[in-house]
Amino acid sequence: MDKLAVIIPCYNEEAALKIASETLRGVLGDLEGKGKISSESFLLFVNDGSTDRTWELIEEEHALYPTKVLGVKLAGNVGHQFALTAGLMTAMELCDVCISIDADLQDDVSVMEEMIDKFHEGKDIVYGVRKERKTDKFMKRVTAQGFYKFQKLMGVKAIYNHADFRLMSKRAVLQFSKYQETNLYIRGVMPMIGYDTDVVLYDRKERVAGTSKYPLKKMLALALDGISSFSVKPISLVLGAGVVIVLLSILAAIYAFISYFTGNVEPGWTSLILSIWFLGGMQLLAIGLVGEYIGKVYLEVKHRPRYNVEKVLTTESDETIKNGLEENKG
Ligand code: UDP
Ligand code: MG
Repeated sequence: MDKLAVIIPCYNEEAALKIASETLRGVLGDLEGKGKISSESFLLFVNDGSTDRTWELIEEEHALYPTKVLGVKLAGNVGHQFALTAGLMTAMELCDVCISIDADLQDDVSVMEEMIDKFHEGKDIVYGVRKERKTDKFMKRVTAQGFYKFQKLMGVKAIYNHADFRLMSKRAVLQFSKYQETNLYIRGVMPMIGYDTDVVLYDRKERVAGTSKYPLKKMLALALDGISSFSVKPISLVLGAGVVIVLLSILAAIYAFISYFTGNVEPGWTSLILSIWFLGGMQLLAIGLVGEYIGKVYLEVKHRPRYNVEKVLTTESDETIKNGLEENKG
């Protein structure tokens, strides 16, 4: 029977943690009862450097349910994508299949059964895909959907309306662990793995408790990673714009010449100042974009470890986990 690990990244989730633990333990119990997963299945909470009581609550849950609730404490806040990776790398050694889900339970836990069914049908990755975005605020809905479309336009292969609610088989996680990138956008990496995949549809709900841990700044950073980590199209667009402007400037030069010979010479201050501003802006834009990539190269070549596991709460011997972490260090 397959052992399921549910990975839950948590950043300041003290309000939602107990509810999440209870609900997800219920889901495990249900699936175990139906004989769909092994009774050794477990939850793995990853504390992403929370400044509230999140970790204490995880420890409490582990004390109450030592085999059901496990925890990983990261030494500092590394962000959702790395916290999730830390969870996957830890769980990989202990389970046959993983499902990642947010601590706020916005994703519908009832479709986890469907995910497991698809896994048993032989799918390696099953994406949770949102049907509608009724519960999202207008701004979030518009920006997120615009972003997914823009991403597609830029040639990034990502699943439309899929966040990080996803089932992954052990071998999919193993393969994912080989993507040692510092600018990590898991949703973009997953489709590159190339195994058999499927989707399950669900309605996204309101947060069960607490507030969003994704302020605009973190969202923009993720969006930028989601494009510039996978696509070089922005550079070719700049190149295209450069070519067009050069062609236009030739036309402008011809116009200037004609004006000169017909004696129709104006002081020309307006056109001059306009072109200075416009070209200056274009150059800055181009340099900025190129710099964006150079910045990424710079970060990648440093090969820093991407996270630091401070403590692991499990039932298995520490050796297994340590070996796993050694192998998967960034
Ligand atoms: N999260 C995290 N580290 C961070 C920010 C968020 O581990 O730095 C977790 C958070 O605890 C939650 C998930 O990532 O489990 C998604 O965050 P949230 O629900 O706040 O995002 P939203 O649904 O508002 O986009
Ligand atoms: Mg959320």
